[in-house]
Amino acid sequence: MLSSILSGETCANCRNCCVFEVQSTWELPTFSAKTAARLADHPAYTAAQEGARFRITLPDTGEAQPCPFLNPHSGCTLPADEKPFACKLWPVRVMRQADGSPALALYRGCPGIPDADVLRPLLESGLRERIFAEAERDPSIILPYHPNYDWL
Ligand code: SF4
Ligand code: SF4
Repeated sequence: MLSSILSGETCANCRNCCVFEVQSTWELPTFSAKTAARLADHPAYTAAQEGARFRITLPDTGEAQPCPFLNPHSGCTLPADEKPFACKLWPVRVMRQADGSPALALYRGCPGIPDADVLRPLLESGLRERIFAEAERDPSIILPYHPNYDWL
């Protein structure tokens, strides 16, 4: 989704994604019931139901854990049509503003997209509307605001 501005090569060199600190597990992605059922046989996959969606859960080890679908050498192992929308959107998130309304926010620690200026043309070419349409369809991608993010 952001591949025109964030290359796979940049991410391969960075490798700062898909591993979740204990305090970041609220950012784990969700799946539809259909995809969650298909993934149920995956040896490391566990999830907790949230409304109609299933959010990945990680072992409670007290340490950072990789997503069960992360191959440390090749990246995400899910087929493109099952990769969660929130993952395709990263390092952009949909977050709640103080008044409760959703807005787009950029993670401040991604070296591939260092500031909003890189993103704006893409957002204004229709991506912003597409993201909000998805958030309306699947509100699980709307997360609480965190100070590591800048509003877009
Ligand atoms: S932090 Fe940014 S550049 Fe690094 S792997 Fe994640 S998306 Fe790619
Ligand atoms: S589903 Fe794929 S892209 Fe999303 S956190 Fe897991 S490994 Fe990363």
